[in-house]
Amino acid sequence: MAKTNGKPYPNLIGGDWKAPSDNVLENHNPADYNEVVGLFPMATLDDTKSAIDSARAAQPAWSKTPAPARGAILDKASQILTSRLDEIATALTREEGKTLAEAKGEVTRARDIFKYYAGEGWRYSGQVIPSSVNDELLYTRREPLGVVSIITPWNFPIAIPAWKIAPALIYGNTVVFKPAEDAPHTALLLVEALVEAGLPAGVINFLTGDGALIGTEMASNPSVNGITFTGSHNTGTKVYQNAIKNMARVQLEMGGKNALVILKDADIDLAVKLAITGGFGLTGQACTATSRIIVEEEIADAFVSALTTAAKNLKVGNGLENGINMGPLVNQDQLQTSQSYMAIAQKEGAKLLLGGEVDGAKGYFAQATIFDHVQPNMRIAQEEIFGPVISIIRANGINDAIEKANAISFGLSASVVTNNLKGAFAFANQVDAGVVKINEPTTGLALNAPFGGFKGSSANTFKEQGGAALDFYTRTKTIYVNHG
Ligand code: ADP
Repeated sequence: MAKTNGKPYPNLIGGDWKAPSDNVLENHNPADYNEVVGLFPMATLDDTKSAIDSARAAQPAWSKTPAPARGAILDKASQILTSRLDEIATALTREEGKTLAEAKGEVTRARDIFKYYAGEGWRYSGQVIPSSVNDELLYTRREPLGVVSIITPWNFPIAIPAWKIAPALIYGNTVVFKPAEDAPHTALLLVEALVEAGLPAGVINFLTGDGALIGTEMASNPSVNGITFTGSHNTGTKVYQNAIKNMARVQLEMGGKNALVILKDADIDLAVKLAITGGFGLTGQACTATSRIIVEEEIADAFVSALTTAAKNLKVGNGLENGINMGPLVNQDQLQTSQSYMAIAQKEGAKLLLGGEVDGAKGYFAQATIFDHVQPNMRIAQEEIFGPVISIIRANGINDAIEKANAISFGLSASVVTNNLKGAFAFANQVDAGVVKINEPTTGLALNAPFGGFKGSSANTFKEQGGAALDFYTRTKTIYVNHG
């Protein structure tokens, strides 16, 4: 959609690109907060209800559309994303801050997700079960849930919506989608691609504005059958409490405090590379980001020195410029959060090795920051920061390292760096995290494998992504046919 020349972008309700109300949300560039990226409507409660009603009305026809035909629309959307990759990636960097290379990677991921689920339209099925009586066909059928509310955060403004919207649609659900206040433009470009690909009116509805107002209705409206949410623990808990009143199905992804564990036999260069990618990539604003590094004492000094040297070379700046390794934080709140944890860590007695400063003069920039000699019970080692701040915790032996890795309330992702097969598998089997990596960064996911956390990182209900999405986005009906 072309730039709106100071006029707000629209929402999409029941197939109408709706003229917004007078109230608008100003979306700013976090690398230069004087730049307004766009104005977005503050959808009202009535708008939200009519979006849900539209999704409800469109659902029977959409679910009767043959799944391969639904898939053809997703495939077309994937092609549209390919043709607009540069435009969408630039919009993404401009409103969220990550580097253009990271943004291109994310749009490519969204494109691939739509392609993957387009193919699901030809594949997914129920089961035929052996019958215990003669002349009986016993089988299951996967039916759509109905209307699904999709509430997403700002940190992956196209990949997360893609991995929720694509499976919702392919399995026959209709959608009400609300992106985060800080990244509505990328979301709008995704919805536009779907509409252009031929999605019928009402199948996807798109609302922007006040998360609490719209999100509460999206979670508690009795016409909604499923709610999928990625965001903070506090908000996720509210979503669950609202949804449970209607016994709606819920899927929550709510952050982490992910550990990279480095055993004494590790390749130090590899460990440094993984720490930089997981800790400072995406400015630390990933739920799978490395925020704790647990390293065996024998190699701790050597590792810490190599990591500090490498991190010093990271160039912080506007993600649209060449040669930038780390973009800004997304907003003032995130900048303040990182800043306050930098202060808390020093008060708690952690040793600052690098960084520790923020620069909010023009954009929301924070330095790559490393603390050493962090104790597992310090706040800096327990609470999610969502910024470029790494805590180093020293361990004595693998058992101590695993125990320290598990000593948190989250359980999203964890990685071990080692050349020792025994140590690798001990870690994989004993670490309390839904995603485990060996010699890979805590960040980065395969789009065709299940994703989801343990403990406080999720609602511990359904996984996302790949084939696992079928379980959340469909209900199973069991059918007995006596043909004797
Ligand atoms: P973050 O700290 O990452 O911004 P939030 O949990 O506040 O995380 O936001 C994640 C998503 O939840 C956003 O789309 C936001 O608008 C939405 N949201 C905020 N408040 C509520 C609420 N009370 N109910 C449902 N969704 C909400």
